[in-house]
Amino acid sequence: MKLIQELNRSIILNMIREYGPISRSEIAERNGISPSTVAAAVTDLMKERFVYEAGTGNSKGGRKPIMLRFSPDNHYILGVSITNSNVTFAEMNMEAIIRRKSISNIDHLDNQMVIPHLLNLLEKFICKCPTDKECKGISVIVPGIVDTSKGIIHLNTNINLKDVRLKEMIEERFKITTWVENDTNAIVLAEKKFGKYNMYNNLLFVTIGEGVGAGIIMNESIFRGGRGDAGEFGHTSIDRDGIRCDCGNIGCLENYVSWSAVHSRIVSLISKGRSTEMADAVQNNIALITPAVFRNAVMKGDSLATDIMTEVADYLSVGIVNLIHLFNPELIIIGGSIGQDNEVLIQKIDSYVRKHALTVFIENLKIYPTTLGEDTELVGAGSILLQDLFLFSLSSDAGIYR
Ligand SMILES: [Zn+2]
Repeated sequence: MKLIQELNRSIILNMIREYGPISRSEIAERNGISPSTVAAAVTDLMKERFVYEAGTGNSKGGRKPIMLRFSPDNHYILGVSITNSNVTFAEMNMEAIIRRKSISNIDHLDNQMVIPHLLNLLEKFICKCPTDKECKGISVIVPGIVDTSKGIIHLNTNINLKDVRLKEMIEERFKITTWVENDTNAIVLAEKKFGKYNMYNNLLFVTIGEGVGAGIIMNESIFRGGRGDAGEFGHTSIDRDGIRCDCGNIGCLENYVSWSAVHSRIVSLISKGRSTEMADAVQNNIALITPAVFRNAVMKGDSLATDIMTEVADYLSVGIVNLIHLFNPELIIIGGSIGQDNEVLIQKIDSYVRKHALTVFIENLKIYPTTLGEDTELVGAGSILLQDLFLFSLSSDAGIYR
């Protein structure tokens, strides 16, 4: 829990950030905080170089007010994204704009080496960070079950992480406050606050890639569930007689639409003699077909790729109708290495759900692509930290920052 003084400070800082240039008296009026509290907080924020005075505004009678603005570049934050195959690091300003990033492959590592390797890479990355600016925190995002309050990764089955006390480990080694969050929660927040979807208050982000999952913002807050694991969309069942899943369940969606499922299907159809331009694109080295190669073939109308995409869309759409009936979202964002920039997939899902979901649920429903491009995860990591620091509102009435 933050102290009241700290809360006021965050509210004042966020107001300057969202509505600046703004005067001290307007901040006091808008928030119902006393002018002396605002003045004291602003003095502190100026000393810490978060805020500066930027000329005078129009007078409503009497002296012209001094206007305040936010300085996003006097401090920085670090974002870290862990996936099955890579760890990526970014130095960002206080508006989640990336200044420098670095990516490392972890495919070759034994699972138990992932975290020690990540800490060593982080140390190297921090060494190159600016010395004249203060780091306000490190934010790590990872697929799987994460206790955000304690910063513990309870479970990630893909790289076999279990009860990793990552926040503690990073804070002990680097003495920098650290956040740990599930990747889809971070991405849905980033798409809302730093992407193009600020006008929606109830939105879902669905990722289809190495894994399948959903990030959920309902009633203007991230919906995490009891242990922080809401949104395990990939392990919702779409076939009670289906494939047995590692999680113990049967017919989990992930086993039909994840990249490993898609890749096996490509290999199987090629081995049956089907031709595809994907094979040409990788000089017949089928192992080198990536999600991007697959998406590209779908866009070009390759028949094998299109057949598989249609199967994926059918399975996924069944799951998405369930999500629509459960959550009644205004917007579903489709992303992940298979889902991103995939108009064909979005169109197929859209036409399926319009046939199969209840009319009242789909009248105002939009299904759109991600808008943050290849940096979605890193901006996601940044936005988790910034939300805590600034307590920014998730209401669509709040300002859009970029
Ligand atoms: Zn499962």
